[in-house]
Amino acid sequence: MSSGSLSFATRRDAAILIVDDAPENLGALRKLMVEQGYQTFVATSGERALKIARRVHPDLILLDIMMPGMDGYETCRQLKSHAATQRIPVIFMSARTGTDDVVAGFDIGAVDYISKPLRMPEVCARVRTQLQIRSRSETHEEQAERLRTIVNNMAEGLLIIEADGRIQFTNPACDKYLGYQVEELAGRSITDLLNPLVAQEYLDYFARYAAAPQTAHNHGTREVIIRHRNGSSVCMDLTLTPMYLRQPLFIGLLHDITHHKQSEDALQRAAMVDPLTKIANRRHFDTFLEKEWQRAMRSGQPLSLVVLDVDHFKLYNDTLGHAAGDACLQQVAQAIASHALRPTDLAARYGGEEFVLLFAETDGDAAYLLGESIRNHIESLQIPHPRSTTSAWLTVSIGVATIHPHQLDNTESLFVAADRAMYVAKEGGRNQVQATKTGGASLAAVKAMVMR
Ligand code: GH3
Ligand code: MG
Ligand code: MG
Repeated sequence: MSSGSLSFATRRDAAILIVDDAPENLGALRKLMVEQGYQTFVATSGERALKIARRVHPDLILLDIMMPGMDGYETCRQLKSHAATQRIPVIFMSARTGTDDVVAGFDIGAVDYISKPLRMPEVCARVRTQLQIRSRSETHEEQAERLRTIVNNMAEGLLIIEADGRIQFTNPACDKYLGYQVEELAGRSITDLLNPLVAQEYLDYFARYAAAPQTAHNHGTREVIIRHRNGSSVCMDLTLTPMYLRQPLFIGLLHDITHHKQSEDALQRAAMVDPLTKIANRRHFDTFLEKEWQRAMRSGQPLSLVVLDVDHFKLYNDTLGHAAGDACLQQVAQAIASHALRPTDLAARYGGEEFVLLFAETDGDAAYLLGESIRNHIESLQIPHPRSTTSAWLTVSIGVATIHPHQLDNTESLFVAADRAMYVAKEGGRNQVQATKTGGASLAAVKAMVMR
């Protein structure tokens, strides 16, 4: 091999397999191809050509038709029936130039047909053309393959959705996120995945885009709850991009945020809960009271507040230690919380050894009975309080206030009333429930304002 051909080979130029039973043809063609800068392989029979083709995957095969043994047609047929060689372009070379022969050659799968005797510049031109076509189609295939790999391996779920909401395609990540088998989602509607209101919003947006694609704007990213195949809900960021690919389409990208959501929820919950007793904290209670207050104003229903303070708790701590005091507060909190049964009831630790409960739609008599049952519950826990002058057990004093909220009242007035009642209970000997009705005072205030 000359140093010239070696340098061509190392440049990895196109490899050409030349098949001809006549050695002089083979020699001439090989010389020509080498001059063009191609790497060459030669075979003098069809059988040998198949073997070489399977091993070296040439970029092109120049194939003689008339050969002893396996002829060029049969060789081509076999090349086309074998996965490793079927995409190699084959150019027939033959002295048989009848139309039937040429057509037969193309039918078997050849890309070109050169008549013998060969005109060498024509051979060069035809080889060059086929190599260009092949390199272009390879580029397309490579690109498609690269895209396929990305879509199949990306962490985001990908959906292609039609304007009527029909899902055309999903990638494996999407299927996995939502619990579906491959291709199971294709053909379904997004209404199967989203709650009806959200789905309708998207369908309206799709319809607007389909009616005027040129005015399209990105729908952006939003948080959606998607129905998993098993019925559970997953929280996802959904980014939708409109795209016109022979028809209006939407590319949806799903990004799993369930984990963020869970920690966000946990943080939110933590901000609402008292760390020692695990019941609601003061902040949560105040927010809750504000909401119930507004609701009671609209409904005209009474709202009751129960304020509860542990009796002689300083003494309890001093006698049994702070840790015992903590454990005691936890027990008391659980007992109190067990009385907040309706969604509109809430028990909270309001500070130190002071607890509060809100009972919506509860009048004074019912609230008093609730207070009494809480007091009784705590006494019956029989938490020993050796130095209490009130009882052998830990006890609480309870104040109850009930109000029909009015524009002129505020939550503060309800607290003041309940606190006053609680101090009456302390002064009255502790371990008891006292109630005040508010509303009388504010009614007087209304009258006073109207009179002025
Ligand atoms: P009274 O019957 O009049 O309510 O007397 P008291 O001793 O309960 O009232 P005081 O307000 O004087 O004392 C409250 C005590 O509660 C003081 C404080 O050390 C204790 N305390 C407040 N928060 C905690 C807590 O988180 N853990 C423990 N162990 N004790 C607490
Ligand atoms: Mg106190
Ligand atoms: Mg106390």
